[in-house]
Amino acid sequence: MFVGHFAVALGAKRAVPAVSLGTLFIACQLADLIWPVLVIAGVERVGVQPGLTVVTPLDFIYYPFSHSLLAAAAWALLFGAAYMGLRKATAGTGAVLAIVVASHWVLDALTHRPDMPLTIGVNSARVGLGLWNSLPGTIAVELSLFAGGLWLYTRATRAIDRAGRLALAGLATFLLLIYAANLFGPPPPSGMTAAWSALAMWLLVAWGYWVDRHRTLVPV
Ligand SMILES: [Zn+2]
Repeated sequence: MFVGHFAVALGAKRAVPAVSLGTLFIACQLADLIWPVLVIAGVERVGVQPGLTVVTPLDFIYYPFSHSLLAAAAWALLFGAAYMGLRKATAGTGAVLAIVVASHWVLDALTHRPDMPLTIGVNSARVGLGLWNSLPGTIAVELSLFAGGLWLYTRATRAIDRAGRLALAGLATFLLLIYAANLFGPPPPSGMTAAWSALAMWLLVAWGYWVDRHRTLVPV
């Protein structure tokens, strides 16, 4: 899943108005921000096998530290607690951030073929409902989620200047373009290439902070 993860972050803004969209982007995509680093470091492994699913040729051979259920729970707790500690935030805010982190695993388990480990053990059971076996199904689910998230964020905040409007419109357009390129573009030449390009995800985090700085909360 790609734009669907960002939908969760956009939708969560109303629940935790003091948290920047950039921080919410780190939360919703924490697993996919860590994953390329671990692949490049040789800790996790990914291959390319065109036709593996209709939507993605990526073969997630070993990725328990970024994408197991156990790791997702640990990252969620750690992220929520770290934010509370660093920003003196309430337990409610920490809990919402933890849920946003954990949502990544749930949405990935919906889309991936059964390659998502439950624990970090090598022989862990793997789950996945395989939405990626249907291109129309994948697009319908992701775009509805994204439209919903974007709608919630534009209702929770309003632009305070031109940048606030343009940065958000640009972000939405950019996310949809990357998504289209992933869906319809050629498969990456190797798993390592996929990991290196996934590092660009960090740019989207910076973009989230930029958008959020140029928008203000709409009172409920
Ligand atoms: Zn993921």
